[in-house]
Amino acid sequence: MRYALISDVHGNLEALEAVIEALQKERVDEYLSTGDIIGYGADPSKCIERVRGLTEKVVCGNHEWAVRDLKYTDYFNPYAKAAVYWTRQMINTEELNYANSLNHLLKEKDFTLVHGTLHRPEEFRYMRDEREALMSFRLQDTPLCFLGHTHSPGIYWEREGRISYSQDKIVKLAEGTKYIINCGSIGQPRDGNPKASYCIYDDEAKKIEFKRIAYDIKKAQDKIRGAGLPDIIADRLAEGR
Ligand code: ZN
Repeated sequence: MRYALISDVHGNLEALEAVIEALQKERVDEYLSTGDIIGYGADPSKCIERVRGLTEKVVCGNHEWAVRDLKYTDYFNPYAKAAVYWTRQMINTEELNYANSLNHLLKEKDFTLVHGTLHRPEEFRYMRDEREALMSFRLQDTPLCFLGHTHSPGIYWEREGRISYSQDKIVKLAEGTKYIINCGSIGQPRDGNPKASYCIYDDEAKKIEFKRIAYDIKKAQDKIRGAGLPDIIADRLAEGR
């Protein structure tokens, strides 16, 4: 099986469509999503529709959590908060119910999906270092765990109690090793590379591939500005910050 990982789309339809188009040439058998379909971008409803059309295997991101419980935006910066309130206005009841229906964790035989960390997933912590990775690895009972949230793609692995990290584009998976794969962000990359980030897991070739694709950033920016969302959300797309 070949799985495509879709994370942190954040209402950016231009980026999502570029990724889907690229994935259609990749012989993907199944799509998986680690959350934050909405928030920041100007097309929350269309992004929900596209992702739902691809897969039922989606976990809840902090932006889905925030639209269902607006009090949670107390933890957000002012422009993220403004985007949550705007998104809440734009989505319909059925889409809100969909956000409400998403679980924090989804587990299959080989992998677990979560948005932030396995350690207290409902707190949406950020996995930024080996220490936070270790707390997740202790709770991880599948060989792989896919997540997003930091918007920076990369892979942690644990072998014989030691944790390592890499940003290699292709990683061969070894027996007896656990992996945490951060897929990066499709619609709001923050690793200095403005191209949409996603990854592919091939369970026969035992391989993870991290991919980037260019998309029409200008169009996504114009829609964000046209919607009256904070300028910074549009500006940062060009820098991938
Ligand atoms: Zn996010």
